[in-house]
Amino acid sequence: MLGGKQYVDSLADGRVSYIDGRRIEDLTTDPTTRIAVGLVADCYDTFYSDDPGARNPLLAPPRSAAALREIVGLLRGVDMLAHTTFTSVMTLRTVLPQLQAAHPEYAERVRAHLDYVADNDLRVTECITDAKGHRALSPSKQQDVDAYLRVVERRPDGVVIRGAKLHITGASLAHELFVMPTKKMGPGEEDYAIACAVPANAPGLSTINTTYAFRGEDDRHYPMSRKRQMPDCFVIFDDVFVPNERIFLDGQTEFSALFAHSLGLWERLGGVAEMAHDADLLVGLAELVSEANGLGRVAHVKEKISELVIYATLVRSGLEAAIAHARSTEDGFVYPDELYTNAAKYHGAAEFNTMARNLIDIAGGSVLTAPTIGDLELPELEGHIRQYMTGNPDVSGEDRLRIMHAIRDMVADAFGGWHYVTNVQSGGGLYAQRIVTRKHYPMKESVAMAREAAGLSPKE
Ligand SMILES: Cc1cc2nc3c(=O)[nH]c(=O)nc-3n(C[C@H](O)[C@H](O)[C@H](O)COP(=O)(O)OP(=O)(O)OC[C@H]3O[C@@H](n4cnc5c(N)ncnc54)[C@H](O)[C@@H]3O)c2cc1C
Repeated sequence: MLGGKQYVDSLADGRVSYIDGRRIEDLTTDPTTRIAVGLVADCYDTFYSDDPGARNPLLAPPRSAAALREIVGLLRGVDMLAHTTFTSVMTLRTVLPQLQAAHPEYAERVRAHLDYVADNDLRVTECITDAKGHRALSPSKQQDVDAYLRVVERRPDGVVIRGAKLHITGASLAHELFVMPTKKMGPGEEDYAIACAVPANAPGLSTINTTYAFRGEDDRHYPMSRKRQMPDCFVIFDDVFVPNERIFLDGQTEFSALFAHSLGLWERLGGVAEMAHDADLLVGLAELVSEANGLGRVAHVKEKISELVIYATLVRSGLEAAIAHARSTEDGFVYPDELYTNAAKYHGAAEFNTMARNLIDIAGGSVLTAPTIGDLELPELEGHIRQYMTGNPDVSGEDRLRIMHAIRDMVADAFGGWHYVTNVQSGGGLYAQRIVTRKHYPMKESVAMAREAAGLSPKE
């Protein structure tokens, strides 16, 4: 396995990455990416073992609901790149039986690649979302033929791909990019039905980073995002060569949506796990700030916290149900239940902003205007800040200040905005979860029940 230092060293591989109108010379020292690199390195150190047989524990294929629960538990506290590695690997494991039945040669390559990732302890990102052009038109009807990533040349030893994948979390800091079609392709769209693995330093590949990380020198008043950050990337594939052994699908349009469906499931499960944690955090912050403000016993404040508690409990229930009702592939690989995963993801995302509103409503304007830790350390300001930041005298002015920083960072600043958009869009927008939930809901049984309740004859 790799240790944190080896991971950091591995990024000096000639990859091309940009931010804010400039090329990043060294991702490990650049002020916009170095903290994220450090978080990934910390996770490597946490999982490190010098046993030659040891592997990243997140990648062990779950064989029971209990094993799945254990792995989901491990996700708590890992960096986002460990998350995307887990999701990418589980996606490939889930599609293996279907690939094996129809295209054993692709299944063989997927297995070899999964071994390569595990044996070399690599980090992987999920590259599914295309630029997409005109949203109402399919790939082959677009004015720009590259709006969806496609094969532009086939050679005896591989293919050349062109296009862009957008919003890709951690792409600049990963070792491997797992590329797959964003949706089902139709006849005539064979060139768009491409799934493959691309190393992060492949010639023709470049990433443009965006980050919600605080850009100033002293980030102590960003207690959440200084410990949880990862760039999201605009990834350009400018005629990138992919050798045959890294191609997992090429031209079989009937299988083009297979990867996307599987990724959607695992991505949403990861999202629900994250939201369940964040929901508990919102409850805790609401309780803390209501006490610091001296309003812990006021009825409308308690009601808002009760709503937060119910939200947190329902999101966690959905996560638990998705695991408890886990399914299994023919080869015994366990994956979460679609219905509960999608319903929980929908509920968690759709209600997040209302819950953030409750928290902000309880907290007050200091969420935005509380002075920084640096201000607090200035001798001429310290006394005033401690005095006027105090609400309930049982809670110090400094603690109330820090609580306000945490709330701002979590729901009212760059990281907060990222949270809101990401909860809604990651793993596909709310519409996608509505479709999948409806597809897996036992509608026939419900209708039969309703017919009986209404005194109608059973339908033949
Ligand atoms: C911070 C962040 C991180 C992300 N990380 C990743 C990642 O690591 N890997 C990855 O592959 N993707 C990632 N995504 C992308 C995410 O999955 C997409 O944002 C999401 O699927 C929506 O796609 P879009 O952004 O192109 O929006 P659009 O597809 O344009 O969707 C916008 C709205 O239009 C609707 N819509 C779109 N097309 C149609 C249509 N034909 N008919 C009817 N309605 C339509 C949608 O339902 C939605 O309501 C990330 C996104 C964010 C915000």
